[in-house]
Amino acid sequence: MRFDIITIFPEMFAGIFSEGIVKRALDRGRIRIVVHDLRDFTEDKHRQVDDRPFGGLEGMVLKPEPIFRAVEAVREDGGGRVCLLSPQGRALDARLAGELAAERQVILICGRYEGVDERVAEHLADDEISIGDYVLSGGELAAAVVVDAAARFVPGVVGKEGSVRNDSFAGGLLDYPQYTRPREFRGMKVPQVLFSGDHKKIERWRRKKALEKTARRRPDLVKDDTLAPEDRRLLEEISSERKDE
Ligand code: SAM
Repeated sequence: MRFDIITIFPEMFAGIFSEGIVKRALDRGRIRIVVHDLRDFTEDKHRQVDDRPFGGLEGMVLKPEPIFRAVEAVREDGGGRVCLLSPQGRALDARLAGELAAERQVILICGRYEGVDERVAEHLADDEISIGDYVLSGGELAAAVVVDAAARFVPGVVGKEGSVRNDSFAGGLLDYPQYTRPREFRGMKVPQVLFSGDHKKIERWRRKKALEKTARRRPDLVKDDTLAPEDRRLLEEISSERKDE
């Protein structure tokens, strides 16, 4: 699995991938990340990557030619999924991160200024990806988010595969609450069930807490028609406990 990032600020990535899980995945050869300077794909002496927008108004727009050249140069065997980072794109979620992780090569194009000449979105990119309904000053932070989220789904990147499976969204719900030592801190106690040694009971408690949290914070994720019968029972239990409070 290889990520190619095309940017006018390649140095921005020096620190971000030099720690943690992504760094370990790089060291172990599970993923590769190659950062390309867009200016290396210009052909004029000023290495110009941007120009004024047709039709007036302020700001600059990234030109199409260096971007097309860069993508054509970095594609392996003519393939690769080409993704333009854009606030107008498909929202990044666990499903999309998993899809990207299944690709052999993902090419990420980082926009800047007022954005990128529309011909890149229309004729070069397979996807436009947004990391949220807000506007960043450039696509570099968004590209780093995409790489981190997708890399977690590449087999062997996260130590225990189970921890990805249990993460928020992976199983359709938010994660259950996690606790560690000490058992009691400033009067705040860890739920007793976690010391019971009864794995079935602990599993049921975790599922119930995950359902409770998801129903409260993200009701859009808890759809009655897709719930397993045991989950429906747990939700009924939760709502009758709430009524008793
Ligand atoms: N004028 C554009 C618009 O309103 O849609 C915004 C351009 S933005 C200042 C510059 C670049 O940052 C974009 O081309 C894109 O690559 C990146 N960017 C900004 N917000 C983003 C987001 N929410 N998700 C992904 N990329 C984003």
